[in-house]
Amino acid sequence: MFHFIQSLGIDSNCYILEGDKTALIDTGTHQNYRLYDYIDENDLEIDFIINTHCHYDHIGGNKFFQIPIYAHEYDYLDIQNFSEKTLFRIFSKDFDSFSNVNSLKENDEIDLGQYLLKIIHTPGHTSGSICLLEENKSYLFSGDTVFKGSVGRYDLPSGNLEELKESLKKLCKIKVKEVFPGHGESFPGKELLFNNYMVSLMEENI
Ligand SMILES: [Zn+2]
Repeated sequence: MFHFIQSLGIDSNCYILEGDKTALIDTGTHQNYRLYDYIDENDLEIDFIINTHCHYDHIGGNKFFQIPIYAHEYDYLDIQNFSEKTLFRIFSKDFDSFSNVNSLKENDEIDLGQYLLKIIHTPGHTSGSICLLEENKSYLFSGDTVFKGSVGRYDLPSGNLEELKESLKKLCKIKVKEVFPGHGESFPGKELLFNNYMVSLMEENI
C-alpha cells in the first residue's frame, strides 16, 4: 500500500511504501506529529527510512524511529553528524545525531516486494540529493529537486545550478506516471517536460 502524508507548514511531504518491507521516504521536521499519528492510526511498522537529501525539514523526524536510515553517499555523513549543511539551525535549536545512517549511490535498488525503488542521483539542491524511481507503479519521488511548476533552490550549502540543470535533463528522459515531490502536490509525469523552470533552463543551453 502507498501512503502520502502531505506536508504541514515547513515539514516535507512523507511517503510510506508498504510491501514485504516498509519504507518511509523523508520524515519532516521533529514537529511532524501528523506523521506519527498517521503511523499509529494505521498500525504501520516501518522497516527503514530513506532521506531524499540532508535538509532538516526532511530528516528531523528520523529521531523518533530506531531503524536504519539510508541517504546518498554525498549527504549521509551530514545526516549522521548533523552538519551545517542540514540547516538545522534554521529549523531547530536541538542538535541531534544519528547512528545507523547508510549510504546509497546511483542505480542502487531497494526491493520492497510490491515496490522496487531505484536511486537516481540528482545533485543541485544539495550534492547528495536523490530521486527515487518506483518502477512497478511508475512513480518518481523527487525530493526538493523538482516540484509542481518549479525546481529546488541551488543557493544553499553544496547547491549548484549547473548540477541542477544536468539533474533536470536526466529526469526529463525518464517517463513516469506521477511525480511525488518533497513539498506540495503531486503531478503527472508529463508535466516535468512543461515545467517553466525546466524549459527556460534547457533553452539557456541551446
Ligand atoms: Zn531541501
